[in-house]
Amino acid sequence: MINSSILYVFGNRFVGPNSNGDYQVDCPFCLARGLTEDDGKHLYLNPGKNKAHCFRCDYRSSFAETIRKLKGDAPVDFDETEEDKKDKEIEQANVLPQEFVLLDEETAKLVVLAPYLEYLYSRKMTLDRIKKYGIGVCVSGRFGGRLVIPAWNYGKLEYFVARTIWGNKPKYKNPHAPKKDALFNFECALSTGMIVLVEGVFSAIAAGDSGVALFGKNPYRLQVERIVKEARKIKVVVMLDGDAINESKKLALELYRSGVEKLYIGLFNDGDDPAEYRVPPLLVRYVPNSPEVLAAFYKFHVPKRI
Ligand SMILES: [Zn+2]
Repeated sequence: MINSSILYVFGNRFVGPNSNGDYQVDCPFCLARGLTEDDGKHLYLNPGKNKAHCFRCDYRSSFAETIRKLKGDAPVDFDETEEDKKDKEIEQANVLPQEFVLLDEETAKLVVLAPYLEYLYSRKMTLDRIKKYGIGVCVSGRFGGRLVIPAWNYGKLEYFVARTIWGNKPKYKNPHAPKKDALFNFECALSTGMIVLVEGVFSAIAAGDSGVALFGKNPYRLQVERIVKEARKIKVVVMLDGDAINESKKLALELYRSGVEKLYIGLFNDGDDPAEYRVPPLLVRYVPNSPEVLAAFYKFHVPKRI
């Protein structure tokens, strides 16, 4: 039996269902989410599990909600599941935790927040910088004992990370929501005419107004597409941690092939990173396999001798 909602909305323009119960259709959300039109049937719809996920634009919702969006009057053929309720919670995780306290002149006087400020000051931050990024604290809750560093762009919270100051594990705790195309400090960096792509938020802060954090060494495709779209004409520096030479190569090549015009790589020794900045990075204009680039990668990736 073919699901009646699928038939109603997509006619015969679907494949499936496969053995998991997935139907595949051209994703109607890719365009609105900044990509070109999908013609590869990347949207997976699963009425049984009440799930919808596009592997191209990362649209995620329940099956029922997706059908409602596409055709308000469609008869919706689904069962509300626990998974569906969980999905709704995940969508709401893109707000700051309830216990979040913004650091500013007033809250900086609170004794209970002193250790958090001391930690930030030890990383050479000033209260002005802390306020600029909207950094705050959770004293209790799931993110208790952590600094919360939000990624705000164009007045919208895109993501946040929570870093312990007490050494408990994991060092960084992230929200359940996927990071999608979130980029830390992207709006501000674009306005400087240059972006420096680094892994973590503290590296981005250390890199100054041009610093942009990817929240890890393996950016999502959506993040890369956003960088290409908005920064193709300006100077882009790939500056991952010293242990991420292969990830640096991969990202630089991807950006180059996508048409980023003024592309550079900044390389550190293994164990060094932009947050520490003990030694300035070696900065090289990136052209695949140019002698300069090959020499730079070799210098920082000499096979270990025993
Ligand atoms: Zn899509």
